Amino acid sequence: MIHKYDLVIVGAGLAGLRAAVETSKYSDVAVISKLFPTRSHSGAAQGGIAAALGNEESDKIEWHIFDTVKGSDYLGDQNAIEMMINEAPEVIYELEHMGVPFSRTKEGRIAQRKFGGHTKEVIGEDGKITRKPVLRACYSADRTGHVILHTLYEQCVKQNVRFFSEYFTLSLILQDDICRGIVAFNLLDGEIHIFHSKAVMFGTGGYGRAYKITSNAYANSGDGVAIAYRAGIPLEDMEFVQFHPTGLYPLGILVTEGARGEGGYLKNKDGERFMKNYAPTVMELAPRDMVTRSIQTEINEGRGIDGKDYVNLDLTHLGAAKLKERLPEITGFAKTYAGIDPVTQPIPILPTAHYSMGGIPTDVYGNVCKDEKGNLVKGFYAAGECACISVHGANRLGTNSLLDAVVHGRRTGKALVKYLKETDFMPLPDDTGKNDKAYFQKMYKETGTENADSIRIILKSEMTKKCGVFRNETDLKEILEIVHQLRERFKNVNLSGKGKVFNTELMEIIELGNLLEFSEVIILGALARTECRGAHWRIDHPKRDDENWLKHTFAFKTDKGTELKYRPVIITNYQPQERKY
Ligand SMILES: Cc1cc2nc3c(=O)[nH]c(=O)nc-3n(C[C@H](O)[C@H](O)[C@H](O)COP(=O)(O)OP(=O)(O)OC[C@H]3O[C@@H](n4cnc5c(N)ncnc54)[C@H](O)[C@@H]3O)c2cc1C
Repeated sequence: MIHKYDLVIVGAGLAGLRAAVETSKYSDVAVISKLFPTRSHSGAAQGGIAAALGNEESDKIEWHIFDTVKGSDYLGDQNAIEMMINEAPEVIYELEHMGVPFSRTKEGRIAQRKFGGHTKEVIGEDGKITRKPVLRACYSADRTGHVILHTLYEQCVKQNVRFFSEYFTLSLILQDDICRGIVAFNLLDGEIHIFHSKAVMFGTGGYGRAYKITSNAYANSGDGVAIAYRAGIPLEDMEFVQFHPTGLYPLGILVTEGARGEGGYLKNKDGERFMKNYAPTVMELAPRDMVTRSIQTEINEGRGIDGKDYVNLDLTHLGAAKLKERLPEITGFAKTYAGIDPVTQPIPILPTAHYSMGGIPTDVYGNVCKDEKGNLVKGFYAAGECACISVHGANRLGTNSLLDAVVHGRRTGKALVKYLKETDFMPLPDDTGKNDKAYFQKMYKETGTENADSIRIILKSEMTKKCGVFRNETDLKEILEIVHQLRERFKNVNLSGKGKVFNTELMEIIELGNLLEFSEVIILGALARTECRGAHWRIDHPKRDDENWLKHTFAFKTDKGTELKYRPVIITNYQPQERKY
């Protein structure tokens, strides 16, 4: 079946829906999502969305920009960071006017809390400037993503956006560097559908599901990233995967950084607040990469609780009333998944794969780049976690990604309005959908010998072990070899259930193919980058190396395998400095 829309947006998280709100005033817009929209991972975001509103204490846009640059370990492009942070207050007020129920201060302003790496300048009695944590994250208890996602969805429904929910996108229709639509299948009946459009935007989210211990939803299998890569688009900075410090032991379900923002302590087996040894000025509110490495070091050196692979997040001193008002969701999670009541007991936590700094390279208007020189693909846009602009560089600060998704969803939406006005439909190539149909036929007809689950289990546990918080050349070479073997086995994977209706086994096989595709790119980028920067920590190259590595990785799929190229970082005001907190 062929559908025709001016614009197809793949993904109904914050990035996709914000773009849909912007564009649907002027054009026919279809949003394709493999999930029901409000089940997108954005809805799981707990802690907040950053903007220097200064509602609770004085704050400055300039401080937020500096924190983001420093947090990125100087790999973020400073022009893009400046744009995002400058627009932050405006997009927050816009969300408020759309109906997002933010928590409030006593005076009725949007309430703000502390988050790691967000600081203000304080001038001491000796005249010296130091940086202290600042109240910058706007929130709605610990359900911030949930309320924004629902509000944007309501706005889309009001504006007659056409949703194709539980449609799974398989490939891009791209010819002569002009995007003409996508191919998807309807999970309901297994039918292949072609969406013909003037432009396509991806807001397909992150790739944390390549790891065993992860805070990410099952759906975060990096499909968009893999689809773009297969279509000949390079991937940028894929080696930068954020491990969040506080995943609930042992699964890695997220315990928001807001818990530390509200005053929570991290303690080792001796009851010691060990962050004083790693980041004495900001303690538990250091940026994520640092807190994660500190926790992992405590565990590796035998100071985990009872010798196990976790330390404690202690909220007991905050009191029942504060936990109920500010952190009700994670209080519930701890009870449900760990049998722990945070009012009286510490929460067992360990680092968990959380956020994808890398992704599809774009400019600040969401235009996808086809190479490291910044040449563009026409009619193909990306925003949110699947895109790399790059505003997070080597390490994202907490609450900057909801901001990224909303700011760039909006910016991309505005750029699309203009593009759609000036552009006509391009014809579909004759072989549109042919490869996807052939793949489906093969899967339904043939009986493979390999089991998808066993491939997936090996991939995820080995990625966690060998391409995780701490990396080294030997491990990376081993995991690369393992992924090569798994990819060979995957060619012969078996679809055991041949039904057409809601064949989630088939969907998971396709997702596994995507995980395998981009995991190799993560590993190759990590192997090549012989330095420590942000979330990429090579214990065999223990220093940041600005001379050789102050640059973005671009990975290209070629007939001979993955080829890596590089592009310099854009620096405007802040020269790289040693990163201390
Ligand atoms: C547990 C958790 C808590 C977080 N808390 C915070 C926080 O407090 N503050 C903060 O700033 N950030 C937070 N983050 C990060 C932030 O939530 C995400 O980076 C952001 O929401 C991503 O939005 P998105 O629109 O890019 O993608 P998502 O919300 O992940 O949406 C992706 C969409 O793409 C669709 N899709 C994907 N593949 C396909 C396909 N093949 N076919 C069709 N559709 C497809 C999905 O159906 C979905 O609709 C958190 C993340 C997690 C996991």
